Amino acid sequence: MKGLKCTACKDEAILRIKRHHAAFCQRCFKMFIQKQTIQAIKKYQMFSKKEPVLLAVSGGKDSMALWSVLTDIGNQITAIHLDLGIPNFSKQSLQAVQQFAQDKGLPLIVIHLKELLGHSLPELQNKIPRPACSVCGLIKRYLLNHYAFHHDFSVLATGHNLDDEAATLLGNLLRWREGYLQHQSPCLPSDYPGLVKKVKPFYTLTDQEILWYAQQMKIPFCDSICPLSQKASSLDFKKALNVIEEQSPGTKHYFLFHYLEKKQFLFPEKQPKVVLNNCSSCGMPTTQEKCSFCSILETAQSKSQLFIGKNDIEL
Ligand code: AMP
Ligand code: ZN
Repeated sequence: MKGLKCTACKDEAILRIKRHHAAFCQRCFKMFIQKQTIQAIKKYQMFSKKEPVLLAVSGGKDSMALWSVLTDIGNQITAIHLDLGIPNFSKQSLQAVQQFAQDKGLPLIVIHLKELLGHSLPELQNKIPRPACSVCGLIKRYLLNHYAFHHDFSVLATGHNLDDEAATLLGNLLRWREGYLQHQSPCLPSDYPGLVKKVKPFYTLTDQEILWYAQQMKIPFCDSICPLSQKASSLDFKKALNVIEEQSPGTKHYFLFHYLEKKQFLFPEKQPKVVLNNCSSCGMPTTQEKCSFCSILETAQSKSQLFIGKNDIEL
């Protein structure tokens, strides 16, 4: 960026972040990303340097960049990747994850859905009458939490960023989903045995900033969009917010951060706590008699005449 100086060191800048009224050279941009991540971790007391963290890596830019940042700043990270068996997309994702782990010598766990459950994600989706992203989200949440809990990780980190969180907030507001609104947070504590703490250390960074970071640091990542998520409404919410952001930089940031600050005053009366019990099939926490994961598996198995008992889910 000719003529533009780095706000921090006055060297030539390579990029500009309008919402922060700042420009950075490569070195100071790396420091900016690290500082934002450290501040987010501290603000919400996500985890300490001593705590082993399970990081869910999809192979996309966000979780790959987060893997790199958390490792650089000295956290104890074990990465976990779910190979969902989506043609082409899952292969590219797995390649990125394995390449990074190998290049940096980092611990990585890979779980292949087809091997574990007998069905890939597209196969499951064909058998379950629910929107594609809802089945995928449910399976991912269950398996990641299950692995973390059974392997003594008290914290599960994901790569959700400011754009993801702002789009979720907009979606929940548009439909007045009060329960979801009240619980939206970059840090969800573990409030029931079997549910680990969930954290989002990148919630202050945008899609664009993380993309720049991954490119500058030459981090491998899969840049295709999941073919099964192309109709997801969250993509429309992101697009809508980007149109507004273009006109007035900082809107997304303001929308999310002020919501998080005002949330406690907007919902002064705590909604009654959801009553959880243990799934009659797998023992994990659920609001029903049998959890949605076990119900989905049962439906899929009865449709394919395949039986994989509950005890076979050994992660
Ligand atoms: P998404 O819901 O695809 O936007 O992903 C949000 C976050 O969930 C990512 O940043 C990852 O931390 C995690 N995630 C998504 N897909 C996977 C996967 N296949 N394996 C492990 N983690 C994943
Ligand atoms: Zn269950």
